[in-house]
Amino acid sequence: MCGIVAYVGPRDAQPILLDALSRLEYRGYDSAGLAILNGKGVEVRKKSGRIQELAKACASHPIQGQSGISHTRWATHGAATDANAHPHQDAAKKLALVHNGVIENYLELKTILSKAGHTFLSETDTEILAHLVGDAFQSSKAKGEARLVDAVRSATQKIQGTLGIAVIHTDFPGLVVGARRGSPLVIGVGEGENFLASDTQALAPYTSRVVILQDQEVVSLHADRFDVSSPLGDRTNVKIEEVENGVTHSDKGTYPHFMLKEIFEQPAAITNAFRGRLDVDAATAKLGGLNLGSQELRQIERICVLGCGTALHAGLVGKYLIETLAKIPVETQHASEFRYGDSPVSGRTLFIAVSQSGETADTLGAMREAKRRGFTCLGICNNVASTIARESDGGVYMHAGPEIGVAATKSFTSQVVIFTLLGLLLGRLRFLSAAHGRELIEAMENLPALITQALAHSDAIRAVAQRYAKHRSMLYLGRLANFPIALEGALKMKEVTYLHAEGYPSAELKHGVIALIDKETPTVLIATRDGVYDKNLGNLQEIKARGGPVIAVALEEDKKIITLADAVLPVPRTHELLQPILNVIPLQLLSYHAAVALGRDVDKPRNLAKSVTVE
Ligand code: GLU
Repeated sequence: MCGIVAYVGPRDAQPILLDALSRLEYRGYDSAGLAILNGKGVEVRKKSGRIQELAKACASHPIQGQSGISHTRWATHGAATDANAHPHQDAAKKLALVHNGVIENYLELKTILSKAGHTFLSETDTEILAHLVGDAFQSSKAKGEARLVDAVRSATQKIQGTLGIAVIHTDFPGLVVGARRGSPLVIGVGEGENFLASDTQALAPYTSRVVILQDQEVVSLHADRFDVSSPLGDRTNVKIEEVENGVTHSDKGTYPHFMLKEIFEQPAAITNAFRGRLDVDAATAKLGGLNLGSQELRQIERICVLGCGTALHAGLVGKYLIETLAKIPVETQHASEFRYGDSPVSGRTLFIAVSQSGETADTLGAMREAKRRGFTCLGICNNVASTIARESDGGVYMHAGPEIGVAATKSFTSQVVIFTLLGLLLGRLRFLSAAHGRELIEAMENLPALITQALAHSDAIRAVAQRYAKHRSMLYLGRLANFPIALEGALKMKEVTYLHAEGYPSAELKHGVIALIDKETPTVLIATRDGVYDKNLGNLQEIKARGGPVIAVALEEDKKIITLADAVLPVPRTHELLQPILNVIPLQLLSYHAAVALGRDVDKPRNLAKSVTVE
């Protein structure tokens, strides 16, 4: 996963690298490091843990120099130790390299290099690449800085896997060489200074002018110029784009954690998702970014949603919404499964790739596979400058604002709102009556206020969380569109508390899961009043009969369930199709408060990263 930043210019590189890197911590936070050309050679600082640890090490031993590279890591090969932190160096210690990606043939290459006398200081796959570049540099016939570019090109050709890299070399002060294959890399074009970064967000305070490097391209970056070349070495003409880079360091305001802040931002986030997209007169949605006309939209025979984690759960709610509103069959696929599977896809299938960051490697890979097969693919993303946003045929931006907490909250509800808009649009082009369309629009407009009402129960939910956080395992049950809400509730609980939690369709209880029920295993049962309310109450009784505690997500006005469940997480009532959006709110709060009660690192849970940019 990881984030990369490089700088070349007249200023001191160290503070710029540390600052820009801190904006990429969402991509990984196992360790961080930097290397700067200090006039005598390459000087490296690296520390396991957060960027803050690196900043402390740099504050006590600063490095002076105007060009450098830096990295925040999400470990794929080797533990989160100082030694495994990037940058890594070649055998001669003349160069330093940072890497985002995975080298699949690293063991094979390591064996060859070891036989040739190389010794390694880390367990990473990346160090192999540093040695390969070093060797290629030694044997290159090219002259001047072309020698480093040539070495990077030939070394990366030996690699199977994915890479985004930045390299500096003692012989070339004022030069950074970058290359990408699979992992993203952008050039930030400044005034008399230039940058490289994994995404534009890192560069927000420095420049809004960027060049998005294309796959397989190599760049040599100087303070006053940069040259981009193809894998064969031909100079490429690039386009400098202006990006909306209002994103700076988001702060927590009065909230103790980003996760809580983002949960409370949901009324505004979902308003942004539907603002300007509702056409009350025609009782439909306006989604210009789809780049598909009414005729094409009417011809869609199937939809396939691709996503991972929370985004896939949003897709599962989307399936229910689109099938109900537009009667178009929808399947959801784990992006990672689709991209390597033989999944048969019929003729007029529309693909929808869902990813908050727009950089999720598996989703991107699956989308590319769908496009390669000739299908139209839309994107639902938050990050406007992301790869999925760029490579999809059209799509809908979430406009949810930056989501910093690693556990997705507001992006989930925004994604579900976008699926509602899509369902409405597709439905109104088919069978859905204007009256039903208008009912849904009215309910959407009222939704932000109802979310605020649901959030007002936060203190009561905290008390429930404190009561149940000590349990080691929890079950989540829901039916129909609330089944994905059960999955999402369980995922949130796992992510931020590290408790074991599983989501199932309620009726699956009897088919095995019920064996887990005992007084130490609470079940969160989503039982808002809908067509399956009585069935859910039946499940509640089955759990109680076996001594299991039940926490029910129920309507505020439901007096019956209070007498049956051990705890109730109340939500207001809305249109049945929108109820899942309200039902997830108390589950987000339950996980949050349980994590706080357990003293967890809520915004940066162990082992996770916000944006999963390796497969
Ligand atoms: N595979 C490399 C490592 O484990 C890079 C991982 C990353 O992209 O952060 O160090």
